[in-house]
Amino acid sequence: MRILIIGEGGRESALAAKLQKDNRVTKMFFANGNASTDAIGQNVHMSDIKELRDFAIKEKVDLTIVGPEAPLVAGLKDEFKKHDLKVFGPNQKVASLEGSKAFSKKFMQTYDIKTAKAVVFDSYNEAKEYVQTQEYPLVIKASGLAGGKGVVICDTLEEAEATIHDFMIRRIYGDAGIRLVIEEYLQGFEASIIAFSNGEKIFPCIAAKDYKKAGNGDKGPNTGGMGSVAPSPEFTAEHTADFEKNILEPTLTGLKAEGFSFKGIIFFGLMVTKNGTYLLEYNMRFGDPETQVLMALMENNLLDVINDCMNGKELDLKFKDEKAVCLVMCSGGYPGNIETGFEITGIEKAKHSQVLCAGAVKKGDKIVSNGGRVMNVVATGATYDEARKKVYEDALHVHFDYSFYREDIGKF
Ligand code: ATP
Repeated sequence: MRILIIGEGGRESALAAKLQKDNRVTKMFFANGNASTDAIGQNVHMSDIKELRDFAIKEKVDLTIVGPEAPLVAGLKDEFKKHDLKVFGPNQKVASLEGSKAFSKKFMQTYDIKTAKAVVFDSYNEAKEYVQTQEYPLVIKASGLAGGKGVVICDTLEEAEATIHDFMIRRIYGDAGIRLVIEEYLQGFEASIIAFSNGEKIFPCIAAKDYKKAGNGDKGPNTGGMGSVAPSPEFTAEHTADFEKNILEPTLTGLKAEGFSFKGIIFFGLMVTKNGTYLLEYNMRFGDPETQVLMALMENNLLDVINDCMNGKELDLKFKDEKAVCLVMCSGGYPGNIETGFEITGIEKAKHSQVLCAGAVKKGDKIVSNGGRVMNVVATGATYDEARKKVYEDALHVHFDYSFYREDIGKF
């Protein structure tokens, strides 16, 4: 089987490492890939959908797995389908559940999915009037994709007015911010549930926890994710039952009613408050860095799981009764200005963990940093502490100039 994986992060490295063990997989291509995927298969450098389609036809690709959201939102599945190319992921319309926060909020409201109360605005003046009547903090979201930066938690009316101005008038995120979702602030802890959809049913994995803030103790700016653990230590059986009844089941009802059935991933970004579990967002693809810890614990053969989804079969997902920790090593300055191109050494000295490249590429015979989130160190253990110890011991070996990471991933 010939597989094309689109993306270049640690998530794609983790998926590739899992699929690599399967001898039915004869060739893997990665667009654009990184230094880990380069060692597993062939990295190709393209991101245009038509170019990818032509490549998949020429190389007789049997299955395409899409890591990031942008290609799905741009209609990769629709284009590939015209040529009978199989894609594990939704079409453009269904991908709007991630690509448009206004669209997904409307879907959640229509199908009674437990979520924060919210109103959608297309008019600057109406949005400005509305925020004068609200309690604070208040959450303002650009409806379109803004690289994870389009959500602002406003503590004051002044901040809310400035945010609306930035999004709708200054258009700091272009068209992504011309429509806004303004919603109530929910106080609680977050959890991520990645689930597989076979077109008929949704099969959730164990809940994971993602560390979004750059600094120890959840301080500092938001990032793409500084680490993750699975299972989430805070997400209890009671939360799971609440999630299934008030989020998962009505989501499935909605997907069916709208004709949105798809074969791929649906990721539930959750906020657990004292009033229960709320849905913050859907992502229509694997999460990063949650995928890294889930793949470390998943007992099923990943290719079987994906094939079963593609064929509409039932899944029986099984996870090791262990804990997994993923530490993200970053370039100095991330998530602000960074410098790249620093050589990464010592990967081979890590003996207790899986070391995955994220923003790291081959340059000649060296591996060099190429992004904000550079390396992932992943380990499992009987306890969080055991997994944590392995990860932090091995991270000491992996070196590149100005690197930093959080010291408290998996510490409870
Ligand atoms: P991501 O980068 O995770 O894909 P996103 O930009 O698509 O995020 P959301 O997940 O909706 O947007 O929000 C980003 C973050 O903002 C959430 O992970 C959460 O920390 C915070 N947030 C969003 N909505 C709320 C809310 N109603 N109350 C409190 N915090 C919120």
